[in-house]
Amino acid sequence: MTPQERREFIRTLPLAELHRHFDGSIRPETLWELSEKYYSAVPGLDYEQFRHYLQWDDSLDNTLLDYLDKFHVPLQYTQFYDNIMRIAYELAEDAYADGVRLLELRINPLIHRRAGLSTRQVIHATRKGLGRFGAQHPDFRAGIIVIAMRSHGGNMARILLREVIGEKEEFHDGVGVIGFDIAGPESPFPPILFRDAYALAGTMGLKKTAHAGESEGPERIWEALEYLGPQRIGHGTSAGRDPELMRRLARDGIYLEVCLSSNVQTGAVADLKDHPLPRFLEAGIKVALCTDNPTVSSTTLSREYELAMELFGFSERDIVELARMSGQGTFLAAGCHCAYPDRA
Ligand SMILES: [Zn+2]
Repeated sequence: MTPQERREFIRTLPLAELHRHFDGSIRPETLWELSEKYYSAVPGLDYEQFRHYLQWDDSLDNTLLDYLDKFHVPLQYTQFYDNIMRIAYELAEDAYADGVRLLELRINPLIHRRAGLSTRQVIHATRKGLGRFGAQHPDFRAGIIVIAMRSHGGNMARILLREVIGEKEEFHDGVGVIGFDIAGPESPFPPILFRDAYALAGTMGLKKTAHAGESEGPERIWEALEYLGPQRIGHGTSAGRDPELMRRLARDGIYLEVCLSSNVQTGAVADLKDHPLPRFLEAGIKVALCTDNPTVSSTTLSREYELAMELFGFSERDIVELARMSGQGTFLAAGCHCAYPDRA
């Protein structure tokens, strides 16, 4: 297949995105517009320079710090209800235009509270933006995963969960909170710190995922399984170094949310050709192909599917299966309604 044929084939599939961060997926044009509104544009800065503060560029960026730097600029604009709602709407619009029909958007409410919004208001604005887009597009469905920062510790995670209980999916028509996640530096904040928070999330009826094994080894994934009981693991890249762990993930049907471009940019893998995705699939592990942060990573979900085909020689049937499997991993209460071509 030519790159063009691959692209066209992937565009025929309804895609499910289970791992996308709010603050890493904002349109650069929108942030530029807000920058002009608030500051009459920053003197001496043009749009291309501004965009580089938000998006990965292979010719300029190569470290984890370069990647993390891209999250600083949006924060001054994401402290206000209307902006959060607009960004959530546009984020759904961009995902839909790329073929996404099921979107799980994850957000850490605490970092958007610096102008005085409550945790619940941040989630409410996100729900509203996604819900408005969904009301106009009946074939699009979305849900929210609440993220607790590892660096805020386990008690803050429990407080955060109690604050969002009223925003759960079951209490609202349309979009609501469906899951819980932890993110941020793995090393000083092992999964055991969050054992009680995950137990509470389970009691609240939320589904559970956890970033693990991205910057750290497979032992962190083992610990996440033991202490947090997640249905899915964010990244889980280092599981590729541990055959016993791969057998365990396959046996228990625990999904890995795999984000190719992000993994090479953050250094979770040195070279995309060596990404363990094909070995995960061979081992029978459930995988959802995801973007992590389309703006920061300069990618889209359909582009990540193209990349998987290019890199690993996946057939059309493999790609249909991967798209179907991704949808089946959803935390949405009603499951995935996307229709895929039959396995030929
Ligand atoms: Zn992530």
